[in-house]
Amino acid sequence: MSESKQQRVAFVTGASRGIGRAIAKRLAAPVAQGGQGRHVVLVSRSEAPLNDLKAEIEADGGAASVRAVDVADPKSLTDAIDSVINELGRLDILVNNAGITRDNLVLRMSDEEWDTVINTNLRSAFVATRAAARAMMKQRFGRICNIASTSGVIGNAGQANYAASKAGLIGLTKSVARELGAKGVTCNVIAPGFVQTDMTASLPEQVVEHVRSAMAVRNLGTPEDIAAAVAYVTSDDAGYLTGQVICVDGGLTMC
Ligand code: NAP
Repeated sequence: MSESKQQRVAFVTGASRGIGRAIAKRLAAPVAQGGQGRHVVLVSRSEAPLNDLKAEIEADGGAASVRAVDVADPKSLTDAIDSVINELGRLDILVNNAGITRDNLVLRMSDEEWDTVINTNLRSAFVATRAAARAMMKQRFGRICNIASTSGVIGNAGQANYAASKAGLIGLTKSVARELGAKGVTCNVIAPGFVQTDMTASLPEQVVEHVRSAMAVRNLGTPEDIAAAVAYVTSDDAGYLTGQVICVDGGLTMC
């Protein structure tokens, strides 16, 4: 096997910005620089920020490739994973991070708002897991990490679609953990609370203050806080950790 085939390969969705970008950078950074030394496949719909991130990762001594994919399209997502397995010869780590919100009260929520969120946040993780599982089982090694949310654990008014998608990820994760554990494949959830990204940038200041005061650490998280947890659950060291929901939320829920 060549050097590049031995390097673990990670597929990270929603890598163009926010939490996914931080996860990709952390996984790709060389071990000597505190990273995980993975070859990271950067996935989102927009290609330009992925190419910029790939250049940044390579300048720092890491390895990356780009796939511009809409994760809500099952065929494109499956084809992208198949192409990674064919071209790089393996797939070790899958991080299902791409996610959207379409908030509304349940009485006003349209079918379209429901379906778009469920298909982007939840069905995509099922499709990607199905596409990746065979290669991982054959390798007898795999790490699947689904990025849910504390909304999926405790619910959130105005987010029935989003909370359902994230709660669904938890059920998916526990089932996949039970199905694949004996083959060396683990599956866990990281559930962020409130993290400073584009997704939370438009929240009114009084909402942010309210949330901040409910957190034990009294501060919103950073994308790097989430990336640190993902780095651990996807590491070789985490083989005995599976089916878990880890709330990285500054002590908001203590779930
Ligand atoms: P963000 O800044 O809005 O970034 C979302 C990412 O997902 C972008 O890279 C976006 O890329 C990608 N994406 C969205 N729809 C996609 C699609 N159909 N196909 C492919 N990629 C798609 O959000 P974030 O705050 O980093 O959130 C990342 C994850 O953490 C999400 O699952 C979110 O639910 C979860 N989370 C966030 C928070 C928070 O406070 N920020 C809290 C709990 C959970 P393109 O637009 O370029 O496609």
